[in-house]
Formats: sequence, structure tokens, C-alpha cells
Amino acid sequence: MNKQEIIEILSDNTKNDWLFKEADKIRRENVGDEVHLRGLIEFSNICKRQCKYCGLRSANKEIERYRILKDEILTYVQNAVKMGYRTVVLQSGEDEYYDTDKMVEIIREIKKFDVALTLSIGEKTYDEFKAFKDAGADRYLIRIETTDKKLYQEMHPHASFENRVRCLYDLKSLGFETGTGCLVGLPNQTIESLADDILFFKELDADMIGIGPFIPHEQTPLKDAEKGNFWLALKVMALTRINLPNINIPATTAMETLNPNGRIIALQSGANVVMPNVTSKEYRAKYEIYPGKICINENPEQCRGCIEGKIKAIGRTISREKGFRQKDRS
Ligand code: SAH
Repeated sequence: MNKQEIIEILSDNTKNDWLFKEADKIRRENVGDEVHLRGLIEFSNICKRQCKYCGLRSANKEIERYRILKDEILTYVQNAVKMGYRTVVLQSGEDEYYDTDKMVEIIREIKKFDVALTLSIGEKTYDEFKAFKDAGADRYLIRIETTDKKLYQEMHPHASFENRVRCLYDLKSLGFETGTGCLVGLPNQTIESLADDILFFKELDADMIGIGPFIPHEQTPLKDAEKGNFWLALKVMALTRINLPNINIPATTAMETLNPNGRIIALQSGANVVMPNVTSKEYRAKYEIYPGKICINENPEQCRGCIEGKIKAIGRTISREKGFRQKDRS
């Protein structure tokens, strides 16, 4: 699709049913009916950055900060493997405590288990990414958040759009399966820029795309902003599936925060991945990137059981594979 076609679909709500069905069909033809579950470990909520929408921003003095050290991370990995996960995702704020040596050590230990490993730990240098890849990390997630450069600069004080883009191309060149994505509903975000986001995903040839609605957080400068629209986020996701047919697309947790059936609706509108939390209960509420996060009172076993039941109820199956991008199928 070209930019104009994407804009037309995003601006017209009369064809939404067609759009979601088309994305579902393309998902089935290209990546099949299996859903890949990735076990998410939120290992530190300490962050040096100031992203205006995010509750983990360093200026937020009201959240209680935590850091989970290597041995405890490994117990979550071990437990995830026991539950049947074939991928674990390590996510955190940009916490300088975990320098390259510490991360490399954690990566090496995790890779002793038979799992694929995704990192989502923010912007790094080429050499750091290379060290993570050499240590065995398979995938890396860095959402571009928005490709509207002006809006990007407004949302991310002291950060650079060019550096975020540079990270993504470095990751690609190093052979990471590279994930990106955007927020939908940031203040002053336009439909045109959402179309540009999708074209950017295509240009990068991203392997994974996570799309989520923006949810205002009380302890951020955007506390009074309007929240993102669930259906618009779903439309951006469905269009992403249509334009990148064979990639992995998660049904994001933020979607479920705005709609109690959000992840299942997403799985039926183009998504093929879910990332249940495998971190222990005591940390979940503290990893508050946005309020109203689901499952903060559940333990990892409950989350796995709950989502498995929902996935089976819509006639889909849980993959037993590591779930790399199926490049050969389209
Ligand atoms: N520090 C890492 C991980 C960030 S948290 C990094 O920079 O990549 C993962 C994602 O949460 C972010 O990329 C962002 O898109 C999303 N997020 C943060 N605050 C949010 C909010 N208020 N509403 C919805 N999503 C949010």
C-alpha cells in the first residue's frame, strides 16, 4: 500500500470489519494459526531517560524502584522453560547498572537453556549490540514510538530520533531479529504520521512490530492528555500485518488495558504473538510504564493458564517452536 491508501483506510471507519478480516486472513496464510508465547521478564524499572509518556521516567520520584539481579532472573527463565516458553524477553528501563559485561554474563547464562532470547533494554552503541549478539541474544526490540521527528523530539527530551533509527539499522546489520513499533494516540500525533510509521516498518524490513495505544500516566507531564483509541491502534496493527505479511506481531498488553478482550481481538485482527509476564507478583505493579496494567495480581502460572485458555477458545494453538520470523513462507 502507498501512503495515500493507508491514510484513507485509517480515516474511514466504515471499512473496519473488512480491514480486520483481511489482516486475519493474511496472518493465517503467512504465519498460520499458531500463537507464539514469549515470557516477559521486567527486570529493572530504573531508567535514566525522560520519555514524557512513561511512568518509569527518571523524574518520577513516586514509584518504588527495583532491580532484579542475575540469579533471580535465571530462576524466572527456568520457571518459564518449565511452563513451556521457548522465548524469554528481558525488558527494563535504561539502567546503567547493567553494563555490557553484566548483560553479556546474563545472556550467556540464559542461553544455556534451550530458549530464544529477546532484549528490550533501550538504546546502546553498535559495539554493545555486537557484544550482546556475540553472547547469544537472538532478538532486540526498540520501538521507534513515532516517526514524526518533531513529535519524537517533543516526547523524548535530551534524546535523538536519529540515534533511535541508528540503533534499529545497527541491530538489523548485526543479524538480530529486529522489533520496532509505535504508540498510537500521542498528543498531536497525526494520521499521516501513523501512515509514515507503517512505511518505516516496511523500509526497515522489521521482523516484529508492537503497536499499542498511549495510556496517560498520572506521574508524567502527559497526565492530562487524552488516552489513545483502542480501535485506531488495532487498525494500525492490522495495516502493519497487511503490509508486512510474514512478520511476528504481538497482541499487546496495552490493548488489553483499554479493552478487556483486547488481546484476543488483536489475535483475530492480524496478531500472532502474546507476551505474558513471567516475573513474580511483587514487581509487577512497580513496572508501571502506564496505569491499569493487566495481571498485576497474578503469578506466572496463572497468566500462562489464562491466556492459553483464551487462545484455545478461539480455535488457535500454542506453538512449541521458538517462533522466528517465517521468511520462506511469503
Ligand atoms: N526502555 C526500553 C523499554 C521501554 S518499555 C526501550 O526504550 O525500548 C516498552 C514500551 O512501552 C515503550 O517502547 C513504549 O512504547 C511503551 N510505553 C511506555 N509508556 C507508555 C504509556 N504511557 N502508554 C502506552 N505505552 C507506553
